[in-house]
Amino acid sequence: MKVLVINSGSSSLKYQLIDMTNEKVLAKGLCDRIGIDNSFLKHTKTGSDTVVIEKEMKNHKEAIQQVIIALTDEKTGVIKNMSEISAVGHRIVHGGEKFHDSVVIDEKVLQAIRDCVPLAPLHNPANIIGIEACQQILPGVPMVAVFDTAFHQTLPKYAYLYALPYEIYEKYGIRKYGFHGTSHKYVAQRAAAMLNRPLEELRLVSCHLGNGASICAIKNGKSVDTSMGFTPLAGLAMGTRSGTIDPAVVSFLMEKENMSIKEVNDFLNKKSGVLGISGVSSDFRDIHEAADAGNERAQLAIEIFCYRVKKYIAEYSAVTGGLDAVIFTAGIGENNSIVRRKVVEGLEYLGIEIDLEKNETRGKEIDISAPNAKVRTLVIPTNEELAIARETVKLLKQ
Ligand code: AMP
Repeated sequence: MKVLVINSGSSSLKYQLIDMTNEKVLAKGLCDRIGIDNSFLKHTKTGSDTVVIEKEMKNHKEAIQQVIIALTDEKTGVIKNMSEISAVGHRIVHGGEKFHDSVVIDEKVLQAIRDCVPLAPLHNPANIIGIEACQQILPGVPMVAVFDTAFHQTLPKYAYLYALPYEIYEKYGIRKYGFHGTSHKYVAQRAAAMLNRPLEELRLVSCHLGNGASICAIKNGKSVDTSMGFTPLAGLAMGTRSGTIDPAVVSFLMEKENMSIKEVNDFLNKKSGVLGISGVSSDFRDIHEAADAGNERAQLAIEIFCYRVKKYIAEYSAVTGGLDAVIFTAGIGENNSIVRRKVVEGLEYLGIEIDLEKNETRGKEIDISAPNAKVRTLVIPTNEELAIARETVKLLKQ
């Protein structure tokens, strides 16, 4: 069974074709600048060089058409024709309170995803366009929606509700939803496999540290708290997002800097985080380079980022009532040994201690705990595409 995984953004579309008989990626790529000038498709057939195909793609339907051409082409292709695609798995950012799990997409589900647009006005419309484009190009092929929010629907009410007048929750659904759920769930399952223990018995804190970053407390296999909130702006300091700040800063800024709603939103989402603090970059590789050259603001950005991750681990160890393992994943979590070391420094009192030599490993599953550590520290590369493909197969077999 070959599953096409689609992650559709407003002007881009990422894809992977996975053979689920052995879970191997056959090909993957990205359509970029859809609906803008100079659109192109970057395609990699596993084992071959990446090719960049410049092609006008006016909309997502044309993008999917190009994906199918690349997948079936004599040189770049991996299948003879599109009938070999058994199913499509779509990454959907927001499922609101409607979706606690992945679902097979039908007209009712599509409408429910549309109903969630006010909660994710930038992401859900792009995800819907991706579904509709696939429906047109691959009619009759079953499709599954996998939500970033679904895993966190197990949060207890006292964890997801903000201390705002209750009516505002009832009227607009303002509450904590959390994101990166597919990743947190995937690495939690891998952690259970690595520890050779049932997930239902484990107390975990998962640190998804990428350009977007979030922490998740997982107890007995269920998400019980997470650092992102109503939107992905809350929680940790991120590449360009502020994370949690005193909400009064927003009205203060709007008044003093004469900012509009859009401007203040951009300020917090695109100009803040480690980029805003360092003034250098949102990418940790650039920040480390500047910090090593003596840039104090770059050094401060690293300190602030690690300090917040550390605080969440300690806070969530209280939520889970002790810890069996801490997981590091995503770009920074998988590759950045300096961040991992700084985060766990001072958490020995919780039983967290790492082996500095093992910590230098990057990009593969490894237990980096010190031999006597009571709590295991695991580095686990995330694989959201494989998780989406697995969900797709599971649902279609039911
Ligand atoms: P993500 O959003 O998961 O792609 O993560 C992006 C972040 O991960 C950036 O800050 C990068 O600096 C960091 N990152 C990604 N790959 C590497 C790598 N190979 N070595 C060091 N840092 C990396």
